Amino acid sequence: MPPPRYQRCSSIEELLATLQAQGDRAKILAGGQSLIPIISLGLAEPEVLLDINRLPGLDCCGVEGGVARIGALVRHVTLERLPQAFAAMLPVLPMAAQLIGHAAIRNRGTLVGSLAHADPAAEWPAVALALDAQLVLKSARTERTLAAREFFLGPLTAALEPHELLYEARLPIAPARTGASVLELTYRHGDYAVVGVVAQLTLDVDATMIRDARVALFGVGPTPLRCAASERLLQGADAAGFGDAAVAAQRVAEPVDDATASGDYRREMVGVFVRRALQQAYARAQAATVPDQR
Ligand SMILES: Cc1cc2nc3c(=O)[nH]c(=O)nc-3n(C[C@H](O)[C@H](O)[C@H](O)COP(=O)(O)OP(=O)(O)OC[C@H]3O[C@@H](n4cnc5c(N)ncnc54)[C@H](O)[C@@H]3O)c2cc1C
Repeated sequence: MPPPRYQRCSSIEELLATLQAQGDRAKILAGGQSLIPIISLGLAEPEVLLDINRLPGLDCCGVEGGVARIGALVRHVTLERLPQAFAAMLPVLPMAAQLIGHAAIRNRGTLVGSLAHADPAAEWPAVALALDAQLVLKSARTERTLAAREFFLGPLTAALEPHELLYEARLPIAPARTGASVLELTYRHGDYAVVGVVAQLTLDVDATMIRDARVALFGVGPTPLRCAASERLLQGADAAGFGDAAVAAQRVAEPVDDATASGDYRREMVGVFVRRALQQAYARAQAATVPDQR
């Protein structure tokens, strides 16, 4: 197989027209931190690489009407180093970003590229699922918006057509008295998670009862997994409910044996890490003072 032809697109219109014409012969090149390794391993054989890195407008990262809009070229490092006022509105972003790979990977890789790649052990798909992100998909002919829960279909498989650009992710900002935690079990810093948890808790005015709970797992199933039963148990509960919520999350996990860990060990660790993440998120929610910028 000859190496793919490289094409740098100068406008979104040119990109979408080329994607429409090439279909699954073309691949979008964003940070390249997943695409180049899979091409090198022979797991993908695109004929054309469409570089979007110089396209204007895709690096937008801002809050509008209670929603953060994260464009296709927003790098992990930007989310790791968000200004404090922005991070207070979406505390989960810097927490997840700092766990991804190493500095060189975070300098190039993008949140949107990670969603498109749909690795079930990656941080961003679980964040998008936990926060009910909306994903905006553009093609030469249409634009559509999909909820994150409809987007992740299986390992490295998303509801993204070959002729579509994942244009941006929209994440609702956290209400006041919200705390979050992203925890993962890895053997070395920067590795993909053996078990990962995203938790976000919003407390009532008394700062004790849980008004809203979000829990998602990564690394323990074919896609990121939302723990709806845990969330229901947590609603209206206080910290005494964390044990039951962790057990409910273990039931959702679909861990398998692989070279890094057995399925049984992974399920055990889901319980441990969900409980820990809930404790952290709860303590942070109690301490949270969100600036009045929403
Ligand atoms: C050593 C190493 C360690 C890593 N560790 C982690 C980790 O711990 N956690 C983690 O989550 N990731 C990790 N990664 C992957 C990294 O985070 C990638 O940056 C990320 O998965 C993909 O983003 P990207 O911008 O690099 O996408 P690319 O590699 O450019 O693209 C990935 C895929 O998405 C498609 N794509 C990209 N952008 C779009 C778009 N806008 N619309 C439609 N399709 C698009 C591409 O065509 C390709 O199929 C690691 C990578 C390496 C090399």
